[in-house]
Amino acid sequence: MKAALFAAVLLATGLAVSSVPAAAGDIQLNPVLRIGGNLPTPQNVAYPYGVLKIHVDATDLHHRVFNVHETVPVKPGTPVYLLYPSWIPGVHQPYSPIKNVAGLVIKGNGKVIPWQRDEYDVRAFRVDVPAGVSSLDVSFKFLSSQGRGQGPIRMTPEMLEMAWNNVSLYPAGYFTNRIQTVASVTLPQGWKFGTALELAGSDGNTHTFKPIDYMNLVDSPLMAGKYFERLDIASKRSPPVHVDVMADKPGDLEIKPEHLKALKNVVVQMDKLYGAFHFNHYDFLLWLSDNMSGAGLEHHRSSEDGTDADYFTKWSPSQANALLTHEFNHSWNGKYRRAANHATPDFNVAVDDSLLWVYEGQTQFWGNVIAVRAGLESRDTGFAKLAATAARYDMDRPGLRSWRTVQDTTNDPTIAQRTPLPYRNYQGSEDYYSAGQLIWLAVDGKLRQLSHNKRSLDDFARAFFGMNPGAWDINTYTLDDIVATLGRIQPFDWKAFLRERLDGHMNLADGLALEGWKLEYVDEPTKAAKAMQAHDKERGIDLTYSLGLRASRDGKLNDVRWNGPAFKAGLSPAMQIIAVNGTGFNGDVLKQAVKDAKGNDQPIELLVKNFDRYKTLAVDYHDGLKYPKLVRIEGSADYLSKVYKAR
Ligand SMILES: [Zn+2]
Repeated sequence: MKAALFAAVLLATGLAVSSVPAAAGDIQLNPVLRIGGNLPTPQNVAYPYGVLKIHVDATDLHHRVFNVHETVPVKPGTPVYLLYPSWIPGVHQPYSPIKNVAGLVIKGNGKVIPWQRDEYDVRAFRVDVPAGVSSLDVSFKFLSSQGRGQGPIRMTPEMLEMAWNNVSLYPAGYFTNRIQTVASVTLPQGWKFGTALELAGSDGNTHTFKPIDYMNLVDSPLMAGKYFERLDIASKRSPPVHVDVMADKPGDLEIKPEHLKALKNVVVQMDKLYGAFHFNHYDFLLWLSDNMSGAGLEHHRSSEDGTDADYFTKWSPSQANALLTHEFNHSWNGKYRRAANHATPDFNVAVDDSLLWVYEGQTQFWGNVIAVRAGLESRDTGFAKLAATAARYDMDRPGLRSWRTVQDTTNDPTIAQRTPLPYRNYQGSEDYYSAGQLIWLAVDGKLRQLSHNKRSLDDFARAFFGMNPGAWDINTYTLDDIVATLGRIQPFDWKAFLRERLDGHMNLADGLALEGWKLEYVDEPTKAAKAMQAHDKERGIDLTYSLGLRASRDGKLNDVRWNGPAFKAGLSPAMQIIAVNGTGFNGDVLKQAVKDAKGNDQPIELLVKNFDRYKTLAVDYHDGLKYPKLVRIEGSADYLSKVYKAR
């Protein structure tokens, strides 16, 4: 759909046509009350004191410092709380980088006004505004990571990523979509930038954006870089869609016609899937760097996609390439359609993550499927990835088969904060992504079986995410809405079907049978799996489904499967394998030992190092090497191939 048509749709639906999104009053935000603390409960009224102005000087590349200056209109003589956003949408946890904020000075009429950090909330600053002061001048620095485990690196000599939630405070007590802002940035000389924000004007290297509410400002980060390309990948029917690419060096921006064609296909295939776009323009902010930290963070009209420097130069359909399709899918699933308890009134109210198996699980499903439909990945690559996912839930998540549910893993962003775990396979971690993908695959298979292939998850996608073309407010939903939509497409007890998978301990790999396929283990990786691994620079040895371990090239164990053969022999992920049956460790030696032990009763002897102690452990395993592979179930309909076929 063209931009002009989009405006017409907005007029027809009574929404305001401007750079500012739909009127806030129409949005059903979750009125969760704060429990304890001193902060005022956010109200669904327009911020009455004026427009919040935020300026960021992002030119100090040497020190990796963002210098912030804000003007916050306030009521004279009244206390105000300024909040540092805590729950950042898409991050799913309440741990924004307040530790990187320093140098906070607040002034009114030129005089310093003391601030006090709230005793219940370290991201809230109380300011007793003196009489006669109607505006606060707020200055602080965002000291971005210098590396060394301080968090993601967001500034290099060649590029920077600026999330407005990192570089602004906002007044408490109001829905963030009711606080109007004007944001501006000063960038290094000659740098270009990408953002979903609309430009009002530029003065040299300082760029000022059109007014936008604070909720959508935070949802519209800015990427800037020295080496920058802007690719137009819009389809005939879509609003403008661009890929803004930044790289460490010009040579990484070698974008060939086949790359552009596949990226354009993504927009075409998404349109065929949903039949509607929920943005007036969209920008992929794609950075290719060995220096910046990688990322994948969705927004309504943009996404942050940070990947390897050789993304284009090593491009091949035989490697995994679903980052962009995953993040793009969130514009429909997660941003436009949002779980009711996920749509909070501000960024400092707790978010209910319990429907992340829809938000991330179905996005994992479509991100992978669309990558194949668009030609970013070959079908064989897509199937190899699916085999790996199915095997994980067949054998390598013993915790989910015993003590833990997929539903409970929606708490993991808060529990583990995306830090490494001692025994991830037993603990489970954010399995709502990939287990969610398998649950939606089972829904697709069940829809096809019940309807004799007349209905599929494509129908659900269109019905649930594709309504109201052009609208880009927030359209909330509950589990009952999902169940009702599935029931309209194909009558069935969908609630029981979903809850059994979410709350039980069933083998989610079994859902493949509904698509006419099953999982088998073979004694060498499939050709597609090998081709995919060839792109993995960190590649070590993966014997997850045989010995039950993964190790780096020098024998350091990355993972030991709970109650697997290696675990039972006494191995732990803290150890390093030094020798195998008396021979110095390498991957081939270990694989040969597994082959040699097949079918006899000779244990595999591993000399392992644990701190400065050495010990020989005997692994009693005789079933040979095993790698996952998808195999057709003879005599059944092949629905899976239809799922991955381009529309
Ligand atoms: Zn996601």
